Amino acid sequence: MQAELYHFDSYEDIHNNHSLPRIEDFYLAGQRVSEIEKTEGQKAIIEVVRSAIFAHLKGLSVEGRTIEDHRILFHIRTLFPLYNSTIDFTFVYGSLEASATTLMHELTHSISSEWQYLDHEFVKQIASKDVKNRRDVKSGFHSYWFSKDDSSKENFQFINEAVTEKITREIIAKVRDRIQDLKPLFAGRCEKALRNFENYWETYKKHLIDITETFDRKAEAAISELEKEFQKDFEELSQSTEVSSEELEDYLDFRRRDLESSKENIISTYQAFKKPILSNGSEGKKTMEVKAIINNYSFDCTSSSYDLELKILNLILDGLAYSQSSCEEEFQAQRTKIWEDLQKAYLFGTVMWLRKIEKLFGKGILRALNEVDLITGNDQKERIAQYLEHKNDKLKRF
Ligand SMILES: [Zn+2]
Repeated sequence: MQAELYHFDSYEDIHNNHSLPRIEDFYLAGQRVSEIEKTEGQKAIIEVVRSAIFAHLKGLSVEGRTIEDHRILFHIRTLFPLYNSTIDFTFVYGSLEASATTLMHELTHSISSEWQYLDHEFVKQIASKDVKNRRDVKSGFHSYWFSKDDSSKENFQFINEAVTEKITREIIAKVRDRIQDLKPLFAGRCEKALRNFENYWETYKKHLIDITETFDRKAEAAISELEKEFQKDFEELSQSTEVSSEELEDYLDFRRRDLESSKENIISTYQAFKKPILSNGSEGKKTMEVKAIINNYSFDCTSSSYDLELKILNLILDGLAYSQSSCEEEFQAQRTKIWEDLQKAYLFGTVMWLRKIEKLFGKGILRALNEVDLITGNDQKERIAQYLEHKNDKLKRF
């Protein structure tokens, strides 16, 4: 007998459900995911990317695990393309179907998850409903768990993304020609994606306007509350025989100014909430999205994601290699070996390996990396890079 399938309205539904097991199939927005046919192009791109990853693993003497086609979904619109380690599915939104780099990056996360190297029953248990032992399925060095108050905590995301992206770029460089050969299989797809986006954009814009209108209503309500208070004060004081008319005038004058500035405050606060929301629906943002779609069908294969994370990872590798070599030749050999070791540690979730970094660059470096906000922390990243450059200058002995 078949177990009952989960129904989700959107990816957020999956994301917010903290007690899911690894699943084979489910309904998403009314559609059974195993019944979604992949296009010839999608099948071909999966094949090229998957075989390239396996060739890379072979070079590292690591036996990978099977990545089944049905665990890769292209049609859904999520905020980011991502691999969900708990249910073991990879989500790449539709307009990114031709981006081999994106797929490579996400499948690299998938291949480094605990589903690869641990007993599946054991992994199921840690991701189970058993609150005491509950945590997300680890992927690479990255772990994510829930504390008792249900707030989430995570560790080593920075270094994990850097390693993932470095592996991705290395593999892509080797198969660029094979990927470009797939272009004819995606004929007409870019136009279709642009049409879909056009429809989506209209609904999305309406959604944003709805949100800002609720802000307008909240601001109006707050202002009317203040006006009522003022009116009440005024009526009470005008009936009172204890205050002179001059005193009353003075006081009312003060209250009027106070009321005006409070109103301005309320309006500017809600304007500040509205601004980023409205800019998400601006023409400028739309142009950017359209450009991104066109770019994704260009089969360009370059990636600029995690540039600064990669810069930092490369400095770390340099430092580790400098500390063990006294000439350029030795340095190159050491760097290759250390990078191989690091990839193996990543593929088996051996977090202990990272202590080598702390030993060399000082306690606190891993915590500093952990605390960087990947999206907004560019200044912090630059500062860490400068610190590492400075350290490396001292470590280099030739
Ligand atoms: Zn990633």
